[in-house]
Amino acid sequence: MKKNPILILVLGLVCVGAAAGLGASRASAQKPLPSDIAKALAVIDGASAYAHVKTMADPAFAGRMTGHEGYTAAARWAAGLFRAWGLKPVSAKDGYLLPYPSPYTVVRSAEMTVSLPGDAAGRKLAPNSDFLPLIFTDSGKIEAGLVFAGWGISAPELGYDDYAGLDVKGKMVLCFRGTPARDDRYNHHDEHRTRMQTAQEKGAAGLIYIYPEPLSNPNGDWRRGFLPAMISEKVADSLLKEIGVTSAELKKDLLTYRKPLSSALKSRIRYEVEAENHPDGIGYNVAGCVEGSDPVLKKECLVVGGHFDHDGLHMGFLFPGADDNASGSATVMEIARAFAALKQKPKRSVVFVLFGGEEKGLQGSTWFVGHVPALFAKVDAMLNFDMTGEGDGAWGGYTDDALKPFLDEADSHVGIIRGLSKMSGPAGVRGSDFAPFYAAGIATASIGSNGPHLAYHLIGDTIYRINPDIMADIARVAFLAGRAWADR
Ligand SMILES: [Zn+2]
Repeated sequence: MKKNPILILVLGLVCVGAAAGLGASRASAQKPLPSDIAKALAVIDGASAYAHVKTMADPAFAGRMTGHEGYTAAARWAAGLFRAWGLKPVSAKDGYLLPYPSPYTVVRSAEMTVSLPGDAAGRKLAPNSDFLPLIFTDSGKIEAGLVFAGWGISAPELGYDDYAGLDVKGKMVLCFRGTPARDDRYNHHDEHRTRMQTAQEKGAAGLIYIYPEPLSNPNGDWRRGFLPAMISEKVADSLLKEIGVTSAELKKDLLTYRKPLSSALKSRIRYEVEAENHPDGIGYNVAGCVEGSDPVLKKECLVVGGHFDHDGLHMGFLFPGADDNASGSATVMEIARAFAALKQKPKRSVVFVLFGGEEKGLQGSTWFVGHVPALFAKVDAMLNFDMTGEGDGAWGGYTDDALKPFLDEADSHVGIIRGLSKMSGPAGVRGSDFAPFYAAGIATASIGSNGPHLAYHLIGDTIYRINPDIMADIARVAFLAGRAWADR
């Protein structure tokens, strides 16, 4: 769900990009790789990765929303590939498909009309371009008032409350996603789940996020009678006209003054949404391994993973998630094919995991960290791949200094890493699947491509945005770094 944190972290390192040109020449200057490793590396193929992304992003898999049959069918397809490549299942009971609870919601239809002061008829909004329900909404029909409430945060313990003095009972709360300050103490309040809970506890009928453009977002829990949605800044500007500001100005003022700027609005909203909630959904992490060659160290494993899920098919709109994260999944698959081809396996085992539920809040990876297959006594490290499909270079972040020299050495043979930065402090709420491993004290690194990732969580995130070569190059760096790490 979240914009690639590495990208956010590393954008400041653009300058490093300038050194990228060196990559290619540096790559050629390296000591030749031992033949077994070189042969395995040669298995990695951009066309294979591209074909796998195409399959994952196909409407047949309905946008791979965890719990939904489209995801389950895709997971079975991936398990079939793992078996065909000779990876071993990690569970005698479950094979390659590790189940966990994954409630999900499918939005069938939605209509939203906003009425500005003096305009009773109102303006019917266009689905997807003007508004989108959040993909954990209940069904319902309301005609209600609107209240602007800043960041939608009530944090009296931090001396900040957007709801102070506001009556939101039976109304729709309009707010931005973000926090008054860059302060980890706000992390909990910046969670979507916390915002929805706060709004509903204050009596609101729902919450409407203002985003530059509506995005698909399943990162929340179904709440009875609660209707969360998202509108574009353009629509919000029309609603905020009555208080004489644009959404961009309001956001700037909130960040500048760091105090609530909440106010009731005269505009009203008519909103009807039909959604099916499935509390009994089952999600799957798809996992397979290459067993280590050392009788003792094979009980330790390196996890190579990325999320397999995306946001599904709603109201006739497919969110194919080609870059997010069919690309990272295809990258993991290429790394797995190379390890499977290695004659001399590294000392430690390597487990390849396609996680479910990342878009819902890192659910699959959190489950995996809490239920490590009994085959393994310890997860030694984790390499994460999220959004590796767009661009011609890669950004990386690592949480343990010990990993960096392995990534640097590996990239000296490939030359595509544009920036590698240390991640420290709490992973925050906008991380990716490395975060639960990091929180458990496991060394992690996360790599994504340099984008621009402009179709993030949009219907436009299709195969046509994908560059086969960058996925293959990232897989090459990961294979070389992972092999050396697992064999140290
Ligand atoms: Zn992602």
